[in-house]
Order: sequence, then C-alpha cells, then structure tokens
Amino acid sequence: MHNKTISELAQSLRAKEFSSVELTQHFLNRVKQHADLNAFITVTEDLALHAAQAADARIASGNAELLTGIPMAHKDIFCTQDVKTTCGSKMLDNFIAPYNATIVEKLNAVGAVNLGKLNMDEFAMGSSNETSFYGAVKNPWNKNAVSGGSSGGSAAAVAAQLAVCTTGSDTGGSIRQPAAFCGITGIKPTYGRVSRYGMIAYASSLDQGGSMARSAEDCAILLQAMAGFDAKDSTSVDAPVPDYCADLNKPLAGLKIGLPKEFFTADLNADMAATLETAINEYKKLGAEIKEVSMPNLKYAIPAYYVIASAECSSNLSRFDGVRFGYRCENPADLNDLYTRSRGEAFGKEVKRRILMGTYALSAGYYDAYYLKAQQVRRLISEDFKNALNDVDVIFSPVTPTPAFNIGEKLANPIEMYLADIYTIAINLAGLPAMSIPAGLINGLPVGLQVIGNYFDEARLLNVAHAYQNVTDWHKQSPNLG
Ligand code: GLN
Repeated sequence: MHNKTISELAQSLRAKEFSSVELTQHFLNRVKQHADLNAFITVTEDLALHAAQAADARIASGNAELLTGIPMAHKDIFCTQDVKTTCGSKMLDNFIAPYNATIVEKLNAVGAVNLGKLNMDEFAMGSSNETSFYGAVKNPWNKNAVSGGSSGGSAAAVAAQLAVCTTGSDTGGSIRQPAAFCGITGIKPTYGRVSRYGMIAYASSLDQGGSMARSAEDCAILLQAMAGFDAKDSTSVDAPVPDYCADLNKPLAGLKIGLPKEFFTADLNADMAATLETAINEYKKLGAEIKEVSMPNLKYAIPAYYVIASAECSSNLSRFDGVRFGYRCENPADLNDLYTRSRGEAFGKEVKRRILMGTYALSAGYYDAYYLKAQQVRRLISEDFKNALNDVDVIFSPVTPTPAFNIGEKLANPIEMYLADIYTIAINLAGLPAMSIPAGLINGLPVGLQVIGNYFDEARLLNVAHAYQNVTDWHKQSPNLG
C-alpha cells in the first residue's frame, strides 16, 4: 500500500480494495516500525484514525477529492489546533496551538488524514535537522547521514514511506535541500502563492510553504490543495490557482533551459556534474534546448541572505518572551530575569546566533552597512533572474554541492553549514518558485536537480519534472530500510 501514488490510492479507496482506516493504520504501523529515523515529533494516532473514518464515509457518499483519506503529515512549523506545535524548539515544547494554519485547514477540508507533526531544525534554522531540540533526523538511505534541513522530517518521512506526502517550508532551501538528500520531489512555490498564516515565522519575506512527495504528480496534487489567496496573510497573492495537473503531460519540445555559468564551473563536484549532465541529456532527448545564462550577482546570495534572514528572525522571535506562551524559566527574580532566562534556557545555539547577528545588523550605526546593503544586493539578484528568464523558460542547477553529509560533520562550523544552501538561497531572495527532483545516486546517496521558473509558473515546473519522471525512475527508487 505504501508504494502507491496519490491517484492510485484514491482509486483503490474508491474501489474498496482497502479503507482509509486500514491505509492509515498501515502507515501508523510504519511510523512506529521506523521510529529510529526520528522523523516525527508528535504522532496523532487517534485523530488520524478519526479523520480516516470520516474520509471513508465521505468516499462512500461519493463526494471525495483525490486527497480524501490519504495519510500525510505536517512539518511542525504549521499550527495544528489542539495539537502540540513545537517548531523544533524547547521554547514551544509545551505549546498547544489554539488554531489551524490555513494550509492545515485546507487539507482538513479536502479530507486528507494528518498522521502527526514532523521533525525540523529549530525555528527552521539549519540545513541538517541537527538544530532540532528533538534531535537529528536520520537519512533513510544511510542512517549515519543527515536528512537535510530544515524540513528533514518531511523529507525522511516521504522517502521511508511513512506518509504519502508531507508539507514543508522553505526560507532558503528547506524544502529542496532535504528533498534532494532524501531522494524525493519537493516544490517551493512563488512567494505569496501559499498562505503563511499559522506557519511560525522565521524570515517573513522569504518563508514559503510547499509540498513534498515522491513524484511531481503527487506534489502537484498536494500543492493544489494548499495554494490560493488568504485574506489572513497580507503577503498572500490574490491570483487564480491554475490546475496543476492539467499540463503535467505537455510535451517539452522547444522548452528553453538555462544553465547559469556561475554554477556549472570546475568547482562543482565531478560526480554531481556528471549526474546533472545525464539528466540534462534526458531533457535534450525530450526536445528541450539548452542555453548558457549568466547571473553575476549569485555569489553574493549567501551573505545577503544571512543578513536579511537573521534580521527578520531577530524581530520575529522577540515574541517568545516567556510571558505569553511557550517556555518560562523557574522563579524569575524580576521581569528582566524572566525574559533573559526564559530565552536563554529555551533557545538553542543556532537560534541565538541568528538573533544576535540580526540584532547587530539592524542596530543604529550598522543598519546602512548591513541590512540596507543586503536589500540592495537582493534586488540585483532578482534582476539577474529576471534577465535570465527573459531568454529561457526555466533554469537548471544543482540543489546541493554534494550528497548528504554525515551527522555531526558540519556542526562545529556554521559557515560550512550555511554553504550547503549555496544553490537554493538566491531563489528565495528573488521570491521565485523552484523544485528539487531526484536525479541520481552518488555513493548510494540521492542527489537532486533543481528546476527554477518564473513567478507563478509552478505548473510549468511540475510539467518539466513530470516529463523527466516519465522517462526515468530515480523518483521510484526507495531506500532499503532493513
Ligand atoms: N539553511 C537555511 C537557514 O538555515 C535555510 C533554512 C530554511 O529554508 N528554512 O536559514
């Protein structure tokens, strides 16, 4: 059962080959069986079985949707009413969300079955899931390797087939990088396409929710249910959502693919270069045309991102003060002691580092030199993409410099960790949509191909990914979990 796609499962449910309750139980058993991966922070077994019962009734009544009765799970950054929502932090270890994030509401409304909440880097800050208060998520392909981050639980759960599909969020690569490390498909939509209401804020001008699954088709189905205008999110875009499945099978003949010369250099790992070349050749066979593009400002993406993301997080995380919700220290002497000890005791090292950097960058006297400059660089990077996308339909790049590294390997060196997102971060600065699709294995570990598109061109990205998945089977391979 766990090997099937959403459409196949929907068909089986309608044909009564099995019920959603049976399917949900099957996945819950797998979650337990593979608990050592540490993909889940909370498993909501009873709620899931209730939702499955309701889904079965809905299917029987004939008004089901594709996702009705399908077991999925949410990244623990999305608020789930009456269910613990931690954002991977000790700060929120006791936080029961009083309301649902918009995307949780939307998925509940179509009758998707939520199995629980997925592990993640603390407040989505990280590239390896190692900053989580709940510990690292193991990569299902090699349990010594990281799952990637910050949506590491979301990626590992799909790869290990503990859930059919999952939600994730991506501020600088957090959907695409773990998707690549775990050999699954993930899409970060255009900024504003998916509501951020109820998604705990890290860097508000960069954060965007998206879908993760084994195939582009499943990502399309899940994204369809998540996307759309939301009056509760002031940056949500009021534009119609196209049918993401309608164009999946459109032929690629004539598609113009741009390869940024700044990414495909001698510095690119030889195995990665060879893997991407094989993938690009598949696209040539499908009738695509390859062109070199140049984006000279991409090299400034990492420093610009870490100034902007840190600045925004220092402001966003000021709400965790020990007063209103979340962790509170014992016996505070006075208000100042309450603030400093609550925050000091409950935030992890990486979160503190970002708050300190961000507060510094925003402080009087430094604002112009850092924050303002970073915003100017951000504009130049957006212009680079705009110019390139005038000439081509999509841009291809690696997702990551290497396959998944080992747990512990980069923990002592934050700069090295930051460089894990070198290919994904610029896309968030520009607000563009991008996907990661499995494109091969290096030393038994998956690597991905990144497909970047123009604003609101998600349907094309999904089409480009689906066409490749029709002629290759990297997305169908799964790890041997022993
Ligand atoms: N690794 C990047 C960071 O730590 C991106 C994380 C994300 O996309 N949430 O900020």
